Parts: sequence; C-alpha cells; structure tokens
Amino acid sequence: MVKPEIPEHGHKKEYTKDEIYDFGMKNYAQFNVKALGFKEMLREHDRIMQSNEVVANRVNDASENRERIINFLNGQSNSELGNILNRQNFDLDNLKADDLENNILQINKIIIKNESYFEAVKKQEKTCMKIIGFEKDPDFKGIGSILKKVFSEDLLNKCIVSEITYEFEVVHMRLNGMDKTFFLSVPAYNDWKKSMPIIKKYRSRATNFGSWNTDHNLSYQYIPMPIHFYAFIDDEVDKIDYLQSVAKAEQLRLYKIGTLVHEFSHNIYYYLMDGNLRKDWQKIIESHKSAITAYAEKHRIGIHGEKVDYNEEFAESIRLFVTMPAYLKAKFPDVYKFIKDKFPDINSL
Ligand SMILES: [Zn+2]
Repeated sequence: MVKPEIPEHGHKKEYTKDEIYDFGMKNYAQFNVKALGFKEMLREHDRIMQSNEVVANRVNDASENRERIINFLNGQSNSELGNILNRQNFDLDNLKADDLENNILQINKIIIKNESYFEAVKKQEKTCMKIIGFEKDPDFKGIGSILKKVFSEDLLNKCIVSEITYEFEVVHMRLNGMDKTFFLSVPAYNDWKKSMPIIKKYRSRATNFGSWNTDHNLSYQYIPMPIHFYAFIDDEVDKIDYLQSVAKAEQLRLYKIGTLVHEFSHNIYYYLMDGNLRKDWQKIIESHKSAITAYAEKHRIGIHGEKVDYNEEFAESIRLFVTMPAYLKAKFPDVYKFIKDKFPDINSL
C-alpha cells in the first residue's frame, strides 16, 4: 500500500469529521464499495412503498376514516383512535390548527400504518429471520437459540428483522450519517489508524434500519428491515466498567452478544414503546445522575449532558439486563424493575 500523505494538523487540536472523510476518500475509497449499498437500500425502500398501490391509495384517500377522524379532532373521545396514535407515538401537537384536510390525511396515514405493523408481524411469524455469517466466530456459537431464549420467539417476531448479518472482517466507520460511511478491510483500517488514531472513535459495530419504519415522513408501511454487524476491533472491553467482574476471557464474548441484544432492543423501543411507556421511561432516566453506560453517556447531548438519548439508554439497559443482570439490579434497580414489569418476555443469559 502506498504511504498516504497526512494533512497538516496546523494549530487545531484534532481533525474535523470532514477532513477525516476527505482523507479517507483520497486514500481508502477503493475499499469503500459497500457505502453504495445504503443508497440502494433507500431506493429499494422507496420502491416497496410505491409498489403497494392498495396501501398507497388508502393512505392518500382518507374517506374510509374521514368521519371518525373529524369527530376525534373535534374533541369526541375515541379510545381506539387514541390508542393507535399512542402506539405510533404520534403527537397531536404537530398538527396545524388551520389545515383540516392535511390533518385528516396525516391521521389516516397513521391508522393504515398501524395496521401494517400487525400484518408485518404476522408475516414474520411465517418467515424465519435469516442469520448470516455468525458461524465463523466461536463467540457467537448458538446465537440463534440464544436470541430466542433472551427475547422469546414472539418478541423477536415483533422486532420484524428480516436478517442479521455479520461481517467480522469488515470495519464499519460512520463519520457523518449514511453519506459519509466507510467499510474497510481490517488491514486498511489499521493502516489508516496509524496516521489518524482518531478514526477509532468513529467505528460502528452495527447498522440498524428499524427507524425507517417509525419515521412517518419516510414510510407509511412497516417492512422487515435488516441489522448488519461488523468487525469487533479496538473495543477495549477490559476497560468497560460493567464487565469488570467478568473473567477476561469472557468479556469480549459478553460484549459481542450484548451488542446484538442492544440492536434488537432498538427495535423494541421503536415498535413497542408507546407514548405512555416512553413517558414512564423518560421519568426514570431523567431521575439518574449518570447514564446507564459510558456508551449511553456519549449519546447525551450538550455540554453538561442535559439532553438524554432515551433510545440508547434503553438499548444499553436491555444489554445489561441480559448480559449483566446483577450489575443492573444493584446499580439501577428502577430500570431493572421497568424491564421486568413491562417486558416479561426478556430473559437474562
Ligand atoms: Zn444503539
């Protein structure tokens, strides 16, 4: 490999994300073929949305639900509709006061979309989630049955994951959303790291597209989405506080399984944490002085960490509930209780 030219540091403390990205594109772009795959996925997602004309027509023509929506908007109580909006985390405050037709269409879309979730789960019960690439890593031995034990078959189906894949020889780095992403061989990553150690910070072990389903602007229909896992490299698991009581040889295995659990838990948050549950959850998290894990702490936004990422806190909490239950119970008993009460299907390893 030709030795890449490293940009001048100048007076800056560190490289910006853009500088890192440009440097990567110049020297390592030839390895980055997979980044295109994201855009293809988005196109495929659009294609599925457009191709189902029956659903598209029902979304665009609200006549079947028009009357009950108008009554509801006029203040008539309708618990069924209320429940649907709660399930879909739709905030009525987002509706514009003076645009009745648009408001009817928006709520109609949520009704149709909510139905599609249950249809997707039903289909998922008949199709097996594919598990690809895990057999090469002994740490993931028996991962299919581990997932079933941890989440139950029922809860796994409710996550509507089409497949999980694992490319343990590919390092995934995300510099700025989907557009600025790298997929590198381990040698290329190590080579780049020599000149820019900071790239370690941008490694990402997984990509999860579950949020495409809950983005009401992007979709009006639930579709099974994949979760992809990449190389576990430079993870420094011996420094993770919640793993301190675990034997060295076991730390990485627990961390890897925990990462799978973390990703599935995002889908549980997206699809099963309705507005009421989220309110309870937010109260618990806001009562804590610190985040559940250092990883969740990184997702706190603002100088004093005043803005919390409830979804990351949730995923990390389930990770601990499954892989380090005694630790979670001792340190965050309120979180432990919440998971036990609200998701009785979830089991520790
Ligand atoms: Zn996460």
